Amino acid sequence: MPVICLENASKLYKSEDKKDKRKHYAVRELNVTIEQGEFVFLIGSSGAGKSTMLKLLGGEISPDEGAVLVDSVNIARYFGPWKARLARTFGIVSQQTLLIRKRTIMENLMVAGRASGMQRKSKAAAEKALGLVGLPNVGECFPAQLSIGEVRRVELARALVSSPPVLLLDELTANLDDDTIWDIIHLLHELNNRGTTVVMATHASQYVNIMRRRVITLVDGKIIGDVQNGKYGDIV
Ligand code: ADP
Ligand code: MG
Repeated sequence: MPVICLENASKLYKSEDKKDKRKHYAVRELNVTIEQGEFVFLIGSSGAGKSTMLKLLGGEISPDEGAVLVDSVNIARYFGPWKARLARTFGIVSQQTLLIRKRTIMENLMVAGRASGMQRKSKAAAEKALGLVGLPNVGECFPAQLSIGEVRRVELARALVSSPPVLLLDELTANLDDDTIWDIIHLLHELNNRGTTVVMATHASQYVNIMRRRVITLVDGKIIGDVQNGKYGDIV
């Protein structure tokens, strides 16, 4: 069961202004340890670095400075079987859709299951995951046939197919109505009670305040708050 650690991790990007040759920190010197079974809200305004931090945690991007460790192993050294292990470790919902437009929902989920090492049982696992998010009947639909809210729930199902120990969720609740958000928070709470780590970037302050879990706050790429039993806006 993985422990994930950011050690002085920074990510730099070139400025979008072509004349500006300097690089800018998307996130800077992040130091965080996330134990198995934690529930973490990642908050901060747009551009604060939430998505970058999630991508670092899941090994989607590498830090330019510092390190990302999964169970004390620097993921920059992950290759071969270690890469496959990384894919099995994380269930990811990105801010941008990961669904393939020309494949049905069921095909999408089975592709994701196989990518994380599932072989024969991926269809049953996909059906189960769609049931968990309350959309058991959309398997034959294409992504474009669903509402934005349904697409987000399908993306959560996609992340759940292989029952990963860690969920990294980027703005999963954006564009959803309150009832659906409650259903999803309830599901995540249940999964967390059974041991799944949940790290969730969100603007949904009311849910953060009701849940009272660990709250990490980013401002301009830096962590300015990391509080247990926190509320939206807690710092230090
Ligand atoms: P958030 O998810 O909190 O809105 P991001 O992590 O997406 O923030 O972005 C943090 C900063 O890094 C922003 O200033 C953003 O413009 C910059 N950034 C993120 N990704 C890239 C990229 N691929 N290329 C250039 N700049 C980027
Ligand atoms: Mg983001």
